[in-house]
This record gives sequence, C-alpha cells and structure tokens, in this order.
Amino acid sequence: VTISPPTGALSMAGIGTAGLGEVLGLFRTRPSLTRADVMQQTGLSRSTVNQRLDALLAAALVVPSGEGSPTGGRPASRFAFNCDRGVLLVADIGATGMRTALCNLRGEVSAEVERTIDVASGPQRVLSAADEMFGRLLAGAGHTAAEVHGVGIDVPGPVDFALGQVVSPPIMSGWDRYDIPGWFEGRYDCPVLVDKDVNAMAFGEQRSAHPAVGQLLMVKAGTGVGAGLILGGEVYRGANGAAGDIGHIQVTVENADIEPVCRCGNTGCVEAYAGGWALIRDLRAAGHDPATVDDAVNLIRTGDVTAVRLARRAGRIIGHAVADAVSLFNPRVVVVGGQLARIEEQLFAGIREMVYRRSLPLATRNLQIVAATLDTRAGLVGLALLLADGIFAPERIGSLLQRA
Ligand SMILES: [Zn+2]
Repeated sequence: VTISPPTGALSMAGIGTAGLGEVLGLFRTRPSLTRADVMQQTGLSRSTVNQRLDALLAAALVVPSGEGSPTGGRPASRFAFNCDRGVLLVADIGATGMRTALCNLRGEVSAEVERTIDVASGPQRVLSAADEMFGRLLAGAGHTAAEVHGVGIDVPGPVDFALGQVVSPPIMSGWDRYDIPGWFEGRYDCPVLVDKDVNAMAFGEQRSAHPAVGQLLMVKAGTGVGAGLILGGEVYRGANGAAGDIGHIQVTVENADIEPVCRCGNTGCVEAYAGGWALIRDLRAAGHDPATVDDAVNLIRTGDVTAVRLARRAGRIIGHAVADAVSLFNPRVVVVGGQLARIEEQLFAGIREMVYRRSLPLATRNLQIVAATLDTRAGLVGLALLLADGIFAPERIGSLLQRA
C-alpha cells in the first residue's frame, strides 16, 4: 500500500476531529500562527480551535514557537508545525544513477548522497542500494529508522500510483509489477510513496520556480521523452497513472525512410526519433561514436552539422507532442528539463516553432516555454515535497494522531 487510506479517520470522526486535518494543513503552509489566526482562517469557533490545537500539541505535530513560549508558566501565543518531529527518506532512481536524501517533515532536503546504478539490474539490487544509502543518511544525522515518517521512491517508468507498482517499463528489466512498498515493509513503519520521476520533477519545478502557476507541463527530454502535468497545483496522474506519456505519441516525420522501432515495441513514437537513445543511434549511423546521451549532447554543442540537424529535428518532433499537450491542457508554463535541455538553442527553437504553429492563439497567448531551474535535482526536490503532502494529507490525520 502506498499512502494508505485513512484507517484511523473514521473512528476518530465520532470524537470530534472535524477540521483537524485542515488546521494542521494551515500550520504546514505558514511559519507560525496564533489561536486568533487559526480562528480567522478556518472559521472555526474559539473552543473548537482550542480543542484542535490541544490535540495537535499532544501529538507534537505542532509546537509552541517564538515569543510567549512557556517560560515561567505563561501559555504560548504562537505555534508552528513541528517539522523536526521525524524525518522523510527519498530516492530518485534514474536509468544509470540514483540520488537519495534525508528531509525534514516539510520535505526540505537536509542531506543527500548519489551514486551510479544500473536500473536494469533489477528491483532487489537497486532498492538494497537505496536502503544502504538511507541507512548512512540516518546514521550521519543521528536518526533511527523509527523516526522515519515516510519513504518516497521515483523511477524512470510508468507507475500504477495506487498500487505503488511499475507497470511494463521499457527500460526497467525485472521491475514489472514489483511490489516496491512491500520491499520496505519491516524496514520502516511508515507509508511508501512510489511515483514516476517526471511527476516529481514537475512538482519540484512548480513549487520552487513557479509557485503561483496552477497549470504546468514538465517535459523531460533525456534518454527517453516524458511529461508530468500539474493541474490546479497538484500532480495529475490520470485514471491509472499513465498521464503525460508524450514520448509514445506517434508522429509522422517528413523524409523519414522508415518508421523507427521504439523501446515500447511500437514504431514511429516521439522518443524513437527524439529521445537521447535515438539520437545516439542516428549519430552512430552517421559515423560518430557517442557512448552516452551526454556524449551526444556534447557533440551537438560542438556544432557538428549532422548532430545539429538531428537536434533541430528532435526539437520539432518533441514540439509536435508538446503542441498536442498544450491544445489538450492549456498550461500556463511548459518547463523543459532532462539532459537534452542542455542543447537549449536547437531544442527550444524546434519546440517553440511547433507549439506556436499548431496551437490556437488563446492557448499560447500567455504561454511561457522555459528551461528547468533545478537541473538534475528536480526529481529529488519534488519527490520530497510530494511525500510531505501525502503524509500530512488531511485524510491521514487519524493515522498521524495514532502514531504520536
Ligand atoms: Zn514508444
């Protein structure tokens, strides 16, 4: 089970917890609040606010803060979310590398470690490596596994969000339907959130660089091509978690002799032309010898004629899919990240050309197409924030109080 259903919430409802989750949510978004602030912002009565605050103080979810702390017996006048009541652990798993971090309960990263991995070596090896890094992060900060309130994992493949399972991933051999939360059972007594890497990236970019933007499309152009959607300020995953898979939209490309076969098994997909792996294939066919996507990017940046031509074509093909997404969702901002975003000039020109040519003026009137700001840390940063939101969702208030 991922972020579990509110097992405690129903039984708590009868003894008066209405609005408790919302009051906690208010504290999570403000540095500190007085009783009067809570009354004003929730519309709850003074006695209800006092009861809710007592419950949150008893559970150490909220603590006295700043002036008026209980020195000499005076009751505190200001209170704050207790972001050090425990810790969160997150692992951003890529195809060839993994970043892990220790975070406070606001989802702010306090320490991180990275290492190379091969995601195709299978879930047991990769998750063992992640857990070994978690252990070092906890020990380094003087924490124990009992203090972990949530574990977050993101992966470069399709995820059934409700089950926490990777489903038919093109590049993650051995991970199909693997029970990731189940692997962590017995190691940590807390919920385990599993998500697609680009969803975490989208959330990280939105929260840190575009906090006022409710509608954002994050395009990851790396080895593969994918997208994450933020609608109404929240990650939109669709019915099964498959939303945003623009890398496997089929495109028709002029002057292409044959439709290339994609990693998904179909032909003519966006990423079969424009993904980093496809660029490596085409550069090799043209006589170059890039071993990695970074090699391909560096070759393009040297200005090699064939490489630049392929990069421009990749930009237009990704732009074709982005234009479709813009027509469907009308985002305010399109953020482009991933290794290929480093060839900004060629890639962005192609994306802009196609989006402005194919989308209606109303959809592009206020549209911004920008580069990602968090670079390779977007997934890690976003995953920690997503996990914190999941752990402290109002419907989990029952479980949170039981844990106290
Ligand atoms: Zn495909």
